[in-house]
Amino acid sequence: MMNQPLLISAQIAHAARYHADGEIVSVETTGGLHRTNWGEVERRSRQLGSALLGLGLKQSDRVATLAWNNYRHLEAYFGVSGAGLVCHTINPRLFPEQLVYILNHAQDRVLLIDKTFLPLIAAIKDKLEHLEHVVLLSGEDAEAAEKVPGIKFYDDLVDSGNADFQWPEFDENTASSLCYTSGTTGNPKGALYSHRSTVLHSMAVALPDSLDLSARDCLMPVVPMFHVNAWGIPYAAAMVGSKMVLPGPGLDGDSLKNLINSENVTCAAGVPTLWQGLIGALKKANEKVPSLTRTVIGGSACPPSMIATFRDDYGVDTLHAWGMTEMSPVGSVSTLLHKHTQLSEEEQAAIRAKQGRPPFGVDLRIADADGNELPMDGETQGDLYAKGHWVISAYFNVDAEPPHVDGWFPTGDIATLDENGIVTIKDRSKDVIKSGGEWISSVELENIAVGMPELADAAVIAATHKKWDERPLLIAVKAEGQDPSEKDILAGYEGKIASWQLPDAVVFVDELPRNATGKVLKNKLRDQYGDYLIKE
Ligand code: ADP
Repeated sequence: MMNQPLLISAQIAHAARYHADGEIVSVETTGGLHRTNWGEVERRSRQLGSALLGLGLKQSDRVATLAWNNYRHLEAYFGVSGAGLVCHTINPRLFPEQLVYILNHAQDRVLLIDKTFLPLIAAIKDKLEHLEHVVLLSGEDAEAAEKVPGIKFYDDLVDSGNADFQWPEFDENTASSLCYTSGTTGNPKGALYSHRSTVLHSMAVALPDSLDLSARDCLMPVVPMFHVNAWGIPYAAAMVGSKMVLPGPGLDGDSLKNLINSENVTCAAGVPTLWQGLIGALKKANEKVPSLTRTVIGGSACPPSMIATFRDDYGVDTLHAWGMTEMSPVGSVSTLLHKHTQLSEEEQAAIRAKQGRPPFGVDLRIADADGNELPMDGETQGDLYAKGHWVISAYFNVDAEPPHVDGWFPTGDIATLDENGIVTIKDRSKDVIKSGGEWISSVELENIAVGMPELADAAVIAATHKKWDERPLLIAVKAEGQDPSEKDILAGYEGKIASWQLPDAVVFVDELPRNATGKVLKNKLRDQYGDYLIKE
């Protein structure tokens, strides 16, 4: 057989050759819709690659992006990696000190930014030790030129590139892109992906039992392109030649609803909080989303009540997925097996609410504290470990030994696996509540809470307890127009869990603190309310 390296450039070349007119619709950072297609994206990304090499960048040099989901960012995905450079996507919601740390640690030489981030960059630019060029993702802009002297303009840079530039061929194990974890504790750590891992991940993501992507789809990654490569969707979209909608900076429910309906989006992906916004907007406007067949929900546990609302009120399937930055990110997706097709709708829903099965290419196992493998019986809980073609072997550019145990990557999650490998994430190991000798899953308690109509949002933390060491404490946000008491909420748990798992108390707050990727900052809640039960 021919031995061709698995390269990201091959994905975009395929899209241009067989799906040149496949549409890419994007919301511009400064407003308005922009329409292009795979043919144009490929041409411009080749020109971008050629222009970057023209700036003197060498293989594996890092080019960073601080950008929303839009077509220029998409061109950068392919142009940077395709030219043999590393596309380093950065989360703009991090604190400025974290941004400085990341840009210096990655030794980024070029930074591509959307206009939104001009003030941010103007403020930290002098601290960026390796940065040579800041490029604004737009045409010429006088305001930007004044704020960041010497700034370059992306469209000019692309035009300066050679339109006849050919994608270079190199080893498929060459680095392609870089993403840092959000680093809730300590400094963020980098996961460096390769061309090979990215192409294999794209293939797995597209499979019918994963996201079931095809040329008939119109995909909308609402998950940001700076959050683990928008879960690999842009690469997979090029490979299958689907239409794609990139929603830009405005991710409120109304904007998403209007885009889905005007562009006939079939599949949209994002974290649970985003979909709360969409469902709210649909309810308010009394509208449906007839083109949408499925939402992909992951990043934190998707409450079963959200899956039910999508199914019952809107006829939309939910694909619940689990993964992490260190896994490119997809580790499992929840789809049914043949034997499940005979089950009742309720039983099927219970399976779909789990985190699903690993696709070929990822191996999962659970183990006890000594590293001994635990049974796949759907009951026994253990530390979840992963192995596979798109799982990191070490963090990028750190001296410390990788955290792996016998070659397995410790995910930091606690889970059960059943006999088919269906994962149920019980908790992050640092969030589980250790009450006496028993463990209580904060995820389970949160899922029940957000299913109550009286509540809009909820988090459960381990609060210190004199007798039991830790007990669950529910921190809840009331739904609009609702005023439940603690007693009402605790009554809402009746019959759904064992009584010893019931939260000891409920604290009502206006809002939950969230990190840069939309996850609840439980360490912050623990700092604030950890001694609530002893104080009482
Ligand atoms: P970070 O670790 O930087 O917060 P990641 O996006 O890599 O960012 O987070 C990965 C973690 O998110 C997983 O280890 C898991 O705890 C949680 N997670 C992701 N998807 C799910 C899911 N579907 N259900 C429950 N937890 C999830």
